[in-house]
Amino acid sequence: MILFGDRLMEKTQVKIDIEDRAYQFGDGIYEVIRVYNGQPFYLNEHLTRLEKSAKAIRLPLPYSINKMESLLQQLLEQSSITDGKIYLQISRGISPRNHAFPLNAKPILVAYLDAIDRPVTKLEHGISAITTADLRWLRCDIKSLNLLPAVLAKQEAVDQGCEEALLVRDEKITEGSSSNVFFVQQGKLITHPSNHLILHGITRHIAIELAHQLKIPIVYQALSQQQLEQIDECFITSTTVEICPVVQIDGKSVGNGKPGPITRRLQQAFAEIIPAPTNV
Ligand code: PMP
Repeated sequence: MILFGDRLMEKTQVKIDIEDRAYQFGDGIYEVIRVYNGQPFYLNEHLTRLEKSAKAIRLPLPYSINKMESLLQQLLEQSSITDGKIYLQISRGISPRNHAFPLNAKPILVAYLDAIDRPVTKLEHGISAITTADLRWLRCDIKSLNLLPAVLAKQEAVDQGCEEALLVRDEKITEGSSSNVFFVQQGKLITHPSNHLILHGITRHIAIELAHQLKIPIVYQALSQQQLEQIDECFITSTTVEICPVVQIDGKSVGNGKPGPITRRLQQAFAEIIPAPTNV
């Protein structure tokens, strides 16, 4: 079932208009929310970020945050899926094609739930990454539907047999094509400052909170590509990959080529905050 506006309907009943601005301009915003054991994970944080993205692109949200929460709850309740991800997008609406904002278009909400599992093999063994140019715009903090540079970067990684592309702007690593990135050097975590050059990932925020609890020092600094030679560990964070070790970058092993101890401590702490099944 798909949540289309404020109605739940079969996927085959949903009609996407060819003049929907999400379709023609990528004019809209989105969120991906993890569901563990029937419970949306960090839902408030996702909806707060959605609100910020909407404001940044001057898109009036079609419903209040409370109303969206209850619509998402209905989506979850009618589904037999307990472990998955909700994809939610809001388009600026339907109007004859013209770049300027339409006067009368109504923003359209679409959301649905897909089943996914925790990426256990990647979490255990880590992934490989490449570095490539960050070709995105200067408002990467907005979760906009325009994802073409991220799509191209990810495909470059896949073409080279890797799982993620780390993006480089002005010789500094910003984030992954669909993840945030952390490095460990001499016992300290290093991550890009949360500014307009990265998405303020919810999982990044969780990893930072966990690091504080574990008394792991954090440095908010962009790492240069050359500094990659000196790092001991690397991991990426996202709603779907959680805290995932990166064991190889551009064909070179990170540290000893295995997930490192600080990454492991954070992964363990993350696993402990995943909601357990509720007994009915
Ligand atoms: N950066 C980018 C560019 C992303 O696309 C994503 C995932 N949507 C993230 C970071 C991770 O964000 P989150 O932890 O909120 O999923």
